[in-house]
Amino acid sequence: MFQAFLIKYGEIGIKGKNRHLFEDALMQQIKYALKPVEGEFKVSKEQGRVYVEALSEFDYEEAVASLERVFGIVGICPAVLLEDQGFDKLCQDVVSYLDACYPDKHKTFKVHARRARKDYPMESMEINAKLGEKILQAFPEMKVDVHEPEILLNIEIRQKINLYSQVIPGPGGMPVGTSGKGMLLLSGGIDSPVAGYMIAKRGVKIDAVYFHAPPYTSERAKQKVVDLAKLVARYSGPIYLKVVNFTDIQLYIYEKCPHEELTIIMRRYMMKIAEHFARETGSMGLITGESIGQVASQTMQSLAATNEVCTMPVYRPLIGFDKQEIIDVAERIGTYETSILPYEDCCTIFVAKHPVTKPNLKMIRRSEQKLAEKIDEMVQAAIETAETIIVRE
Ligand code: ATP
Ligand code: MG
Repeated sequence: MFQAFLIKYGEIGIKGKNRHLFEDALMQQIKYALKPVEGEFKVSKEQGRVYVEALSEFDYEEAVASLERVFGIVGICPAVLLEDQGFDKLCQDVVSYLDACYPDKHKTFKVHARRARKDYPMESMEINAKLGEKILQAFPEMKVDVHEPEILLNIEIRQKINLYSQVIPGPGGMPVGTSGKGMLLLSGGIDSPVAGYMIAKRGVKIDAVYFHAPPYTSERAKQKVVDLAKLVARYSGPIYLKVVNFTDIQLYIYEKCPHEELTIIMRRYMMKIAEHFARETGSMGLITGESIGQVASQTMQSLAATNEVCTMPVYRPLIGFDKQEIIDVAERIGTYETSILPYEDCCTIFVAKHPVTKPNLKMIRRSEQKLAEKIDEMVQAAIETAETIIVRE
């Protein structure tokens, strides 16, 4: 019965003079999200409202599911748009609407009329009262409750009359593309896909980089990362994923450096390479799934050591999250099941039994000097041989 959705947005509404830029970005993201959905849609804006209208038969469930993944949307209101054919016709239409939407009539309601068009011959209060009366006549089981109605029936008198009473929550945040671009270090774990989701939610477009170590890590482990990127792309839009062969660098560090410093030194080289790609492709920061104290390489000291090699800001949206809180988000956004598939990742293979938890920067730098002979060349080779995969939902 619904041929349109009225889209409510939150933070974009307060963007002052730039508001139209945010609205346009939101409309673009909505169009992109609806592309794979069966049906033809028109996305438009009018006086602080974004509308999605179906121009053909469409798959309602699929359309709602897609809109639920568009950042910037706080509410999705399935709406009926009516031509203004006089108040009596409106009353009839409202009664049919309620009849179709609410098979059980034992409900309380409130009519909330608003006139965006002041040439409508009745005032809002009068519309509320008269419509309420008609509804009570049609459905005597219904009751008015102006404080906490179970059904808040919104009637907005605009070019067309908008009728809606349901608000499906959207994900909130800002439309992707309104906050620049960042480079996500994406591993096959639980955390980094969630970190990517959270940064994209703030409107940041994301690219990603994955370090693998064939033959120590398998093709399936790489596929898992591609699959995770695909799941994140359902929210963030297409992701350019760089797959970097890290084997030689890892073996070289393993050969030359103390094993308890391995993870930190490895992480430093990952950051350097990620930053190279970030700069090359216009990203303004790096994004990781680290959270303080989660493992040895994520103590404050370890994070400081990792951070030291970066000149770009490193964004760590999970920094204050407990593992369970991260898992909860992963489950909600649908990445968890894929993240827990048991394929090895390159860090677990070269991991030391007793990694340092309080790395000393001087010692780390001294250890890295032992790599001087070949490391620049190896980093260069890793950059040059990286594969780019364009990942779409
Ligand atoms: P995750 O669940 O994201 O793998 P984790 O708890 O396993 O996190 P670590 O393995 O210590 O944590 O990695 C910390 C962060 O470093 C990850 O969140 C990710 O951003 C980055 N990272 C780790 N390994 C890789 C990799 N192989 N490729 C790309 N980024 C990586
Ligand atoms: Mg990991």
